[in-house]
Amino acid sequence: MSLQNPVFIPGPTNMPDAIRQACDMATIDHRSSLFGTLLHPVLNGVARILKSETAEVFIFPSTGTGGWETALTNTLSAGDTVLAARNGMFSHRWIDMCQRHGLQVQIIETPWGEGISAAAYEEALRADKDHRIKAVLATHNETATGVKSDIAAIRAAMNAANHPALLFVDGVSSIGSMEFQMDGWGVDVAVTGSQKGFMLPAGLAITGFSPKAMAAVEAATLPRTFFDIRDMQKGYAANAYPYTPPVGLIRGLKTAIDMLEDEGLDAVFARHTRIATGVRHAVAAWGLELCATSPDVYSDTVSAIRTPEGFDATRIVTHAAEAYGMAFGVGLGDVAGKVFRIGHLGSLTDAMMLSGLGIAEMAMVDLGLDITLGSGVAAAQEFYRKGS
Ligand SMILES: *Cc1c(COP(=O)(O)O)cnc(C)c1O
Repeated sequence: MSLQNPVFIPGPTNMPDAIRQACDMATIDHRSSLFGTLLHPVLNGVARILKSETAEVFIFPSTGTGGWETALTNTLSAGDTVLAARNGMFSHRWIDMCQRHGLQVQIIETPWGEGISAAAYEEALRADKDHRIKAVLATHNETATGVKSDIAAIRAAMNAANHPALLFVDGVSSIGSMEFQMDGWGVDVAVTGSQKGFMLPAGLAITGFSPKAMAAVEAATLPRTFFDIRDMQKGYAANAYPYTPPVGLIRGLKTAIDMLEDEGLDAVFARHTRIATGVRHAVAAWGLELCATSPDVYSDTVSAIRTPEGFDATRIVTHAAEAYGMAFGVGLGDVAGKVFRIGHLGSLTDAMMLSGLGIAEMAMVDLGLDITLGSGVAAAQEFYRKGS
C-alpha cells in the first residue's frame, strides 16, 4: 500500500495536512481552563454542523459504534422496543447491538440496495397503539450499499402516526458530507465518528442529544458507565472529562469544523454531490450497476458497485492494493464478493477522484472484466469539466 495515494475507502478518509498538524500538539493539562478553550468551541461547532440550536453535544474517546451505544444506553431500558430497518451491514450491526442490550427490536427487513421505507415505519408506528416502541432507528447513509434514506420522511411518518418515540439517526457516513438537519428533521440523537466527514483519524464518537432525548436520560436503566452522558455533562461544566480526553483529536476536530465552515457546508455538500455524480457516470460507462436501486437513494459519499455474476468483486480491491497501492472498499455482509465500494467523502477533489477511477478501471481490466481503459475516467472528466 502506498502512503502517497489517496484512499477511496468509505472511512477512514484522507486527512488534510492542517488537520494532521492540529492533532500533533504538546501535552496540556486536560483538567484546566486551557482545555476548556479547546473543548467548548468544538462542542458548539459540532452543534452547528448538526444544524441544531438546542442539541447537547457529547464527544467520547471511541468510534461511531460507541456513539450507537451512547444513544441506546442513555435513553432506554431493558425490554424496551425499538423499530429499525435492516438494509445493510451497519443497520444490521446497530440492531445486533440493541439485541445484545436486551432491547426488543421490531425489524423491517429491507432489500440491501433500497432505502428505509417511511411508509413501513408509519404502518408499524400506527399499529403500536400502546406506544411500546420507545425509539426509531434510522441509518441515514448505509455505507455497505451506498444508499441514503430520507430522514425528513421518517420524521413525517412519526408525526403522522402521532407517535412519541425518539428518533435516533446514524449519520456516521453522512454528517459533514451530506445535508443533515438535526432540528429540521426532529432528530433526537445524532451519531457520528471522527474518521469520515470530519477527516480525522478514528478515535471519537460524536453525538448530539435533543432536549427530548435529554429528558429520557434519568428514567433509562440500561447499564452505562463509560458512555454515561450525565458524567460527561458534569465533566464539561468543569472543563474536563470523567476520564482522560483525547486532546489532540479534539483539537483536530476544531480545525475540521473550521475547514468545513470556511468552505461552507452547502459548498461541501455540493462538492460531494459533484464528485459522486462523476463516479456514477464512470460506473455507467463501465457498463456496471450500483447496488443502490434508484437515483433517489444514491449516496453522495460512497458507491457500492455490482460486478458481473460469478466474478468475486473483492479481487478488485485486493488487486488494486497489491498492484497499484490504492485502497477501495470490499463488500460487506450479504453483498460480500458481489460489490466493491468506492468511498468518495471527506477531503477530496475532482483530480483525486479521477486518479481513483483510473486505477479502478486498470484493476478491472487486469482481472479480465470487459471494460475499456479510460471509459469511466472520460465519462467523469466530461462531467467534471462542466463544473457541476
Ligand atoms: C463507519 C460506520 C459506522 C461504524 O463506525 P466505527 O467508527 O467504525 O465504529 C457506523 N455506521 C455507519 C453508517 C458507518 O459508515
